[in-house]
Amino acid sequence: MAFGVKKSFFGRLQEKIEDVIFMRPEIDEEMLDELEEVLITSDIGMDTTMKITQKLREDIKKLNIRDPEGVKTRIKTIVKELIDKGEAHQLSEKTPLIILMIGVNGGGKTTSIAKIAKRCKDQGKTVLLAAADTFRAAASEQLEVWGNRIGVNVIRHKEGADPSAVIFDAIQSAKAKQVDVLICDTAGRLQTKKNLMTELEKMNKVIEREYPEADRETLLVLDAATGKNAISQAREFGEIADITGIVLTKLDGTAKGGIVITISDEFKMPVKFIGVGEGMDDLKEFDPAEFAEGIFE
Ligand code: GDP
Repeated sequence: MAFGVKKSFFGRLQEKIEDVIFMRPEIDEEMLDELEEVLITSDIGMDTTMKITQKLREDIKKLNIRDPEGVKTRIKTIVKELIDKGEAHQLSEKTPLIILMIGVNGGGKTTSIAKIAKRCKDQGKTVLLAAADTFRAAASEQLEVWGNRIGVNVIRHKEGADPSAVIFDAIQSAKAKQVDVLICDTAGRLQTKKNLMTELEKMNKVIEREYPEADRETLLVLDAATGKNAISQAREFGEIADITGIVLTKLDGTAKGGIVITISDEFKMPVKFIGVGEGMDDLKEFDPAEFAEGIFE
């Protein structure tokens, strides 16, 4: 079972696609129209859907595909090409590594930080957390709760403190203790985009100045359950930060995972992890080939 989300997403999408291609008497324009509708209602954006059906239309002609099984295989290949553009889908293995986590509140940022921290720790790496979302006291507290649970230290200042000062302190501590991975929480206030951008720039400057030898990742956390909102967040955050990867949360439950295809197609931001539950082990590395296979097991 791919990613443990087959029942909630793949199963449904697969069923819906098969209903269209196996139930129709012919492989014709009507079938392609119906397929279009299925893809759009599965949270695959309009542009990406059009790309898929247009390519399929061309391939059907060019390759003279006449049976539903052939159509199914073709869709799988097209989807695979869309979600795998050869970018690195793994988190950098280099150490020291500094990860900036960005994303709107409620998307699963804190939980994802905990999951990634646990994952690094399980790989034998030392980890430190920086609570640089100083805007909400609850954010630092929650991070500390997770830190205690996983057994990693958390650097925090009081509410309203300068986030860059937290990063500065965390870097000094990380250097002194030769920590492998420093994961930094940040405020998720996209509504004050200018402030957030200035704040991120300042944090990045501190990192560059204080720890130039550290490898860097900036991960954007997106809630898959929010569908089109997640897409617009990817666009907006993409404008203010150099995102190296996406953590797509809540792909368990009722999420419509078609969003993975849209995000991979529309943005040059590889999905690196997917969240499949609330527990600290509910994080999976994203494997594009496995994902595409999962749609048509
Ligand atoms: P933050 O405000 O972005 O830091 O969000 P939190 O990490 O506090 O998460 C918000 C809610 O989403 C919490 O109730 C989490 O347990 C839940 N959550 C986070 N990731 C996942 C996931 O992958 N699956 C599910 N089902 N829930 C998640």
